[in-house]
Amino acid sequence: MQGLSEQERYKPYNSRTIRDTPYWQKLTPALQEAMTVVARVMPFRTNEYVLSTLIDWNNIPDDPIFRMTFPHKDMLLPDEYASLKQLIEQDDAVAIKRRIEAIWLRMNPHPAGQLTHNGVTLDGKVLSGIQHKYRETVLFFPGAGQTCHAYCTFCFRWAQFIGEEELKFNARESQELVSYLRVHPEVTDVLITGGDPMIMNTRSLAGYIEPLLQLPALKSIRIGTKSVAYWPQRFVSDKDAPELLELFRRIVAAGKNLSIMGHYSHPVEIRQEIARQAVERIRSTGATLRMQAPVIRHINENPADWAALWTEGVRLGAVPYYMFVERDTGPSHYFAMPLARAFEIFQAAYRTVSGLARTVRGPSMSTFYGKVLINGIETVAGEKVFVLQFLQARNPQWVLRTFYARFDAQATWFDDLRPAFGERSFFFQPEPVAAPELIPVLLETA
Ligand code: SF4
Repeated sequence: MQGLSEQERYKPYNSRTIRDTPYWQKLTPALQEAMTVVARVMPFRTNEYVLSTLIDWNNIPDDPIFRMTFPHKDMLLPDEYASLKQLIEQDDAVAIKRRIEAIWLRMNPHPAGQLTHNGVTLDGKVLSGIQHKYRETVLFFPGAGQTCHAYCTFCFRWAQFIGEEELKFNARESQELVSYLRVHPEVTDVLITGGDPMIMNTRSLAGYIEPLLQLPALKSIRIGTKSVAYWPQRFVSDKDAPELLELFRRIVAAGKNLSIMGHYSHPVEIRQEIARQAVERIRSTGATLRMQAPVIRHINENPADWAALWTEGVRLGAVPYYMFVERDTGPSHYFAMPLARAFEIFQAAYRTVSGLARTVRGPSMSTFYGKVLINGIETVAGEKVFVLQFLQARNPQWVLRTFYARFDAQATWFDDLRPAFGERSFFFQPEPVAAPELIPVLLETA
């Protein structure tokens, strides 16, 4: 680790300020161009710790953390890249904006019905920044936590960062959440997410969390964060790190389970001394730390990396929790991999770790209907199929139900799958209706 004092001071860079650093000179002209063009569409933000410690500059552009941090040419479709580059060269601000907005819309900014189906109301009022998809868990997006210590190029929450208010959801304070939870005692868990809630200072975070501690029905508070990887100093050397750990202790003392849902994508993130200290500090408060991340092409497709990550996590006292499938949003054509490959990676990694690391589940797709686990690839009644199972579902009756999809070597997301055994729909879907153009024919022959 070089220049510890630099790393202790959080120093972010965006696509403009990165040019004033020595790192910019390490990029070839082609990488600089790609970064300039693609960052207009997908936001760029990183920090000194990621740049100086996590990225291996002798291995760019293939270094996984470099791929995860810096925008790449192939993240846009070829015609999108070419036309945007041309407009930037022409310096046509209006046309650039129009082109960027068209690309955003093509990228499916809110997958799995996030904006349309998971919102909540109270006394007829829509509550901003709260989503209630599964009976026992509510997601909360504090307004002050809608950014991150660095942005991941594959992020499914990218719409939170692009500055378009109508594409965002966030809440200014937690009073509405408390009112909502008072009339929904079935909710036992709140997941505070973002962006990254740990970007907030401790005072702001406490302002959101403390009102929740009075709710007897609420059993668990989860905080989704990548700070454990991108800025572990948050728990160790930040000015208010001691107050943060004290807040964690207060949550535990109030009788709540506090789970830090740590987003670890690669073992290099947890191998750093400061990252290990962060795990130790979090655990010392009585909170638990779980590890989760999507499996991403170009970043973590090597089963040995997953096995190393989970094994090191277990050694330090973190719990391997989920391997997700990359969602169908953002530059997914670049990062997504066939479901069959994701399963192969999971299986190969799982086979090599001890039982203590087999708390991990995956590969799991967070679909419109629920969390669908790819539980195997088998031949059943002469047909090659994906064996699927709901781990979580909009309808609790579906949980742990197994169902089957026709094997498809190209499928990268749930929507690509079709029911096996000649069925017309999966058990939880309505029967498909006849296509409109067929209706007159059917009527004529009736
Ligand atoms: S840390 Fe999480 S929310 Fe932030 S950019 Fe990465 S994946 Fe997205």
